[in-house]
Amino acid sequence: MFDWYIPNIPTKTFACKECGKLLQEYQGFHGSNALFVWKQGEEHPIDQRVGQEIKISEEDMTKFCLSESFEFSGYCINDHSATFIGKCVSGVWVTTERI
Ligand SMILES: [Zn+2]
Repeated sequence: MFDWYIPNIPTKTFACKECGKLLQEYQGFHGSNALFVWKQGEEHPIDQRVGQEIKISEEDMTKFCLSESFEFSGYCINDHSATFIGKCVSGVWVTTERI
């Protein structure tokens, strides 16, 4: 499995370099790979995109954190991808850079 990412980056960075369409989905394998949703500026996952019956509690989500540096990909509607590096300070995702 993988996780979802919601980066907070300038709009231009969201555009696909190949076709110019916006990157719409961000996924990566460097987190907990539990279909968590990680949002820049947050210390813990803000959601888990699974059915209610198998979703962990909000309290349990606070046990999960990102590593100091992690990689994920953004995808446009034409399935091109772009790679990003996110970095944490004191466990909180603070920066995102396109590589
Ligand atoms: Zn594209």
